[in-house]
Amino acid sequence: MDNPTYIISASNINISETRLNSHTSIRRALRESINPLFSQSQAIKKLKAQYKTQDKRFTCPRCGDIVNTLDLAHIGEGAYTIIDRIMLENPTDVYEELANKVYLYHINNVRFAVVCRNCNHQVGDTQK
Ligand SMILES: [Zn+2]
Repeated sequence: MDNPTYIISASNINISETRLNSHTSIRRALRESINPLFSQSQAIKKLKAQYKTQDKRFTCPRCGDIVNTLDLAHIGEGAYTIIDRIMLENPTDVYEELANKVYLYHINNVRFAVVCRNCNHQVGDTQK
């Protein structure tokens, strides 16, 4: 098949076994599902809107830089730290059970900051 240079077949992309194993997949899925739950909420949108500039960028409330987006940063313990601990403590849980525990843990323990990418790395732990 003759493709233009900007098209690649998925079969030509090597994906490591580690990324495909179920522990890694579940861990990643939990991480990717928890953030939008909070970041797409009205409360967070409202919080971010306070820092919108006239040209639709944002002023980081922590460092004052003008940026295109504000992150939703975990203060202290990061999302993967929380997810790894819950997965370790509940080794027989299926995805839905883990997702519920991760969600409840956030509701009961987590504080977020809306800050720029640089500040995100400073307010949270650095584990990704
Ligand atoms: Zn900042």
